[in-house]
Parts: sequence; structure tokens; C-alpha cells
Amino acid sequence: MRLKTLTFFFVMLIAISAAAQNAPHFDGQTWWNHIKVLADDKLEGRDTGSRGEREAQAYAVEQLKSAGAEPAGTNGYYQPVKFVSRQIVEKDSSLALIHDGKREPLTLGEDAIIGLRVMPAPEVEAPLVFAGYGLKVPEKNYDDFAGLDLRGKIIVIFSGSPSDIPGALASHYQTAAERWKVLRAAGAIGIVSLINPYSMDIPWSRIALNRAHPSMDLDYPEFNETEGAKLTVTVNPASAEKFFAGSGHTFEEISALGRDRKPMPHFPLAVSLAAKTKVEVTRIESANLVAKIPGSDPALRNEYVVLSAHLDHIGIGEPINGDRIYNGAMDNGSGSALALDMAASFKKSPEKLRRSILLVLVTGEEKGLLGSKYFAAHPTVEPKSIVADVNVDMFLPIVPLKLLTVLGLDDSDLGNRVREIAQSQGVKVQPDPEPLRNLFVRSDQYNFIRHGVPSLAMGVAPDPGTPEVKIFKDWLTQRYHAPSDDVNQPVNLEAAAKYEEIVRALLINIADGERRPEWKPDSFFRRYAETAKTGE
Ligand SMILES: [Zn+2]
Repeated sequence: MRLKTLTFFFVMLIAISAAAQNAPHFDGQTWWNHIKVLADDKLEGRDTGSRGEREAQAYAVEQLKSAGAEPAGTNGYYQPVKFVSRQIVEKDSSLALIHDGKREPLTLGEDAIIGLRVMPAPEVEAPLVFAGYGLKVPEKNYDDFAGLDLRGKIIVIFSGSPSDIPGALASHYQTAAERWKVLRAAGAIGIVSLINPYSMDIPWSRIALNRAHPSMDLDYPEFNETEGAKLTVTVNPASAEKFFAGSGHTFEEISALGRDRKPMPHFPLAVSLAAKTKVEVTRIESANLVAKIPGSDPALRNEYVVLSAHLDHIGIGEPINGDRIYNGAMDNGSGSALALDMAASFKKSPEKLRRSILLVLVTGEEKGLLGSKYFAAHPTVEPKSIVADVNVDMFLPIVPLKLLTVLGLDDSDLGNRVREIAQSQGVKVQPDPEPLRNLFVRSDQYNFIRHGVPSLAMGVAPDPGTPEVKIFKDWLTQRYHAPSDDVNQPVNLEAAAKYEEIVRALLINIADGERRPEWKPDSFFRRYAETAKTGE
């Protein structure tokens, strides 16, 4: 034991001095300077389709150009994307529970909010059925809907998954597209989601504040994944007990099971839900930005390693402490700035890359990964020529970089490559320590994965068992999707630079590698590569 510790100490010493010698391409300062521009109040939080986002895009294009990255969109650097935007007219909308013919109104915002990702029908009234986690996972012979009559009903589900379903599988079947396939077949018309009070990223008060914000979807029929859905509602955990009145069960009982990821009962509720919704619909245009750093190998230069990051954020919202601008410095000014820094670093220290690198700054991430969904379905290069996606979203260099969380670490050989590169910089890697938060399907890499492209995303992680853990927890509670994710927060420039160094080395490794990255045989996500091959 002691010997091991000692060896570890020497290995660390060597690693640290190696990192110092590895003349870094980044100093953290240029990265921060880009963020200062992108997260400036003048850009008003870069909402999809807004003036602020257009200004951010213009800045990015100018930077890409001066770094010598070639335009690779459909219109110069731009790939236009069309959206439909929906906003609730709350004074003409209402929700109520109906119990024995008696109406109990719910207060919008306080008790529940009506989702707009799915276009709500003007009026819906339907019985409720509690369907546990609302998951059907054929691979595990798991079916929350078995034996339930769902025809014409609204299902009530508890957000989360049982512990015997692996994280990746659960995440996959929790996506709207997969869930609606099952619900549509069973005849259900809506979903009420009960938030797990034990794993809330942001407190209800902030979720409720943002409900006036428009919701968006891609404005192309090919992307409609929720046909048949008439209503989606999210409930404040503090009000969820009302839904269980008269059912013989309580929310307290259900959430205790959910906290421990235990099996759930399934039963019809004694209440119906009535909803009236008025929605204002507008059409919006934005764009993804695409730039190329060309490779030099005659055979491989037409293959692409994608570095993706979303440039959009959530714009202007309800004020918190008098501040209405949700600047999105870390989310995802940080990833966008990294992409710009990366382009500049390849100009300053050119590498004779074999494959090309494609920098993709997507729009609409905050609206449901929409820009990347469009790009992955309609890439501006030959679809089969994309060999990997390295996505950078909110990598949080708020403590020194000693440990990286790698989403997708064990899914493809990209994981092995990044492990080796990180170790050579004295950085350890770990898989997602909180699979319940579904992070692997919650950013843009997921759309590449769904098209069969080996992908990963990584973030700086706190050293377990140290005060760093609280720094991250506080960041999520206080700054994530709040106006205080701005340029007045403390960041660690050294950690940012080191992270950039690792990303750069990974991009070069993939671009120059003999073989394209591959999914591991036992990765759940490999299935998409198989369907992509057979062209299904
Ligand atoms: Zn975000």
C-alpha cells in the first residue's frame, strides 16, 4: 500500500514536469477573452434566432476567418436552420385536477407548467394513470406499461429510472422520441412528469420563472417525433401529492422509491386532468456555423473529425437579483471560445493533419439539441465521412484540472485515446459519476451518436471527497441557467488551458490515426452505427 502510494507520487512528479515541458498551445487568457465578448450583456444571452446570437455568430465567423479556417457551411460559414417558436399565453390557459366531478384548479407556475416542446391541443381532459418511471426497455424485459390501459389517457411518470437498468439504456428510452413511440402505440395522449425531488439540477422556483420563455422545435416535418401527443405537464414536487389523492398511494411513498431507484407500483389515479392552452406560434431562423481545417492526406482528407459546441444560450429571462440577462459564460461561451481558440492554435502551430477537422458551432442546443439534430441529419459534408464528434459543452474549469469526467468513456475507442492523452498530462479520467442526470443524451454529441458517429464529451470534475465537490454543487444550484453564469464568476484559466490542450491532442490523434474510431462491441450506442450502415 505504502509502496504504491510512493510510486504514484513519482509518477505524478514526472507527469507534472512533462506537462510543463509540453509547451502549451493555450494560456487560458485568449479563451477568457472570447468568453468576455460572447457573454457580454450586449449579446443578451445569445437566444436562438435573436440579435445577440447573430452578433455572436458574426464574431465567431470573423475569428474563424482570421484563424484561416475555411468556410464549410452551405452559405459561407453558415448553415441556415428554421425553427418554430411557441409561447404560452398564460391568461388564456389553465390546468385543473378533477376529482369526483369537483374541479381543483392548479396554479400555472406554482403547481405545474405546461410543456411546449410538444404542441399542446387547445383543450384536453383525460384520466390519469401512474406508470412508474414510464419506461419500456425491451433489452431488459422491463415494461412500466404492461397491463395498463392507456388508450386516451395521460400517463403520470416519475423522472428517473430503476437501478437495474444501465444508465445509457435508461437515457435512451427516456428521450421524447423513444418514449412517444411506445405511448403512441398504446394510445396515450399526454405525459405528466413528476420531478424527482432528490435529483433536481435547478430548484423549482427557477424552472417556474423560465416558463414564459418560448419553446422551439425544428420547422421541418421530418423531425416530428411526438405525433399523437396532446399535452405535456411538469409538476412541482411540492404539489405532486395532489395527483395521488384517493389513489391509495402517496407521492411521498413514490418519491422515496424513486430516490432509491426501486421498482414502482403502477395504478390508475383517482383524478383526471383538464387543460386549456393558448399558444402563440412564430417562425424563426438561425444557423449553425461550420468551418474546416483541411487535412493533407490525399486519401483521408475527405474524412472529418468534428469538434462541436453550441453557441446559443437562453437569452433574456425573468430577473434574478435584478439581472435579466442569462449570459451563458460557461454554458456554452466556454465551449464556443474553445473552438475559436482551437482554430487559432492550428494557425499558430500548424500540424500536418491527415484527416480534416470540422468545427461546428451549433444553434438551438438549449431548445432541445435542435441545431445539432439538423446538422447530424443534414451534414454539410458527406455523412459517412464524419469519423468522430468531440463535443464541448460547459466543461467547467472552476477547479484545477486533475480529473476529467468523460461521457462515453467506455463506449468507443475514443475513450482509450483520451485516457492516454489525459494521463500524459497528469490528469485522470472517470466515467459519468452521476448517470441519473442523463448527461450523455443532454448535449449535442447525442445527435451524432444517433447517426452512428463515435462521440464523447468531457468536463472538469471535482476531486472526490474534497471541498471541490461543493464548489460544483453550488455552481449548478446557483449559476447553471441563471444570470450569474456571467463573466464575473471565478474561473481557473490554467485548468481551461490544460483542458484545451487535451482536446487538441485528441483531435490530432483522431485526425492522424491509422483507423477511424470505433464503437466497442458491448456499447449500447453501437446499434445506431449498425442502422446507419444498413441505411435503415
Ligand atoms: Zn444549457
